[in-house]
Amino acid sequence: MHDQLKTLAEMQLLDDAIGRYRVLQQELPKQLNELIENVEIATANLLNGESEKQEINKRQRALEADVKTFQEQIRKYGNQLSEIKTNKEYKALNSEISYLKDKISEIESQLLELMDAENEAKASIVELKKALELAEANKRAKEGDLKAQIDSLENKIESTRAERNKLAVTLPVPLIKRYGNLIKNKDNLAVVYNRDGSCGGCGFVIRQQLRIELQLKKKIVYCENCGRIILDPISESEAED
Ligand SMILES: [Zn+2]
Repeated sequence: MHDQLKTLAEMQLLDDAIGRYRVLQQELPKQLNELIENVEIATANLLNGESEKQEINKRQRALEADVKTFQEQIRKYGNQLSEIKTNKEYKALNSEISYLKDKISEIESQLLELMDAENEAKASIVELKKALELAEANKRAKEGDLKAQIDSLENKIESTRAERNKLAVTLPVPLIKRYGNLIKNKDNLAVVYNRDGSCGGCGFVIRQQLRIELQLKKKIVYCENCGRIILDPISESEAED
């Protein structure tokens, strides 16, 4: 009986390992996706930043073209001034010229604002490029290892399960079945320990009579609440057996 209890404890350790592999099977692909997504997000952010800057440059070019047109116009009017005959025409042309000059100075202050915006956009692009490089470096550094880990998990589970099954065949069939059902239905936890007089699985208080049986190790003790197999914590001397 003592051997059976030891075997059950060892089987549970192997099932604990399988449980951890199963968690990794959920978690590692998420981590891998995150690496890939981070690069995609950083790429999209950089493209956004670049198209914002292009938009600013487009507006700059349009306004600069306006300034050129207005300056051209002013030059033409200036030439016409010398050929003017009447004071009235002279005034009209001069007011046209000053209107265009006002327009130009208005545009120039807009261009100054756009220059600030362009500088901000340039600085932001530098940061976004750095962020993308970081995301790419992070992906390069971790992707291969993660993929290898993910690929190896199924094999690890298989070999651990085989190891557990090798132990299981030394037990009576009904006990194997009971153990298997507990693993399946009780959160992968079939074997628990007496934790200060309570079931280590569900916390239910172990009756005095059962506690004595735990110490005697003559029969398998099941929790009266959750049905799990309860063992007494393994002492140092037993661990050396
Ligand atoms: Zn219990």
